[in-house]
Amino acid sequence: MENSIEKKFNDEIIKLCDDNNKSSNNSLFTRERYRETIGNVKKAKLSSKKTALQRYFLRQYDILSVAGIEKLIRKGDIFFYYCTVDELYPLIRTAHSGIGHGGIHKTYKELIKQFANISREIIRIFIQMCEQCILRKSRTATTKLVVRPITSTDFNSQSFA
Ligand SMILES: [Zn+2]
Repeated sequence: MENSIEKKFNDEIIKLCDDNNKSSNNSLFTRERYRETIGNVKKAKLSSKKTALQRYFLRQYDILSVAGIEKLIRKGDIFFYYCTVDELYPLIRTAHSGIGHGGIHKTYKELIKQFANISREIIRIFIQMCEQCILRKSRTATTKLVVRPITSTDFNSQSFA
């Protein structure tokens, strides 16, 4: 079940990638583009006569080696990582369930503490597919239909033992 949702989510993200690739400020990284960008940043660092693009790379990105693995980070923000498209689902799932299935804004606030390229749009797609949120939404809708005031009798009749 979980896997089919993850697949659906990733399909949506790939679509978003395709759209974004047409614009210059694409913040989504496939593994391939991630590796390429790290390579470009390294090359730019070594280049003695930097091109405009290389200067852009150096303004935007830096590389941090974490346990021998090179990670792309936002320039000047040591703990601000760029993540790849395939990492999005598990990262958002962890943050979103960690805050008790909060909404888009809460989930976003949690993720931007650590990640440089997880947008509200991506989180919106995730939450739309979150089974627990869908369930809660439908439950809230049902509750609204049968809502009635809570009387003291309701409390008294319950056992708190
Ligand atoms: Zn949820």
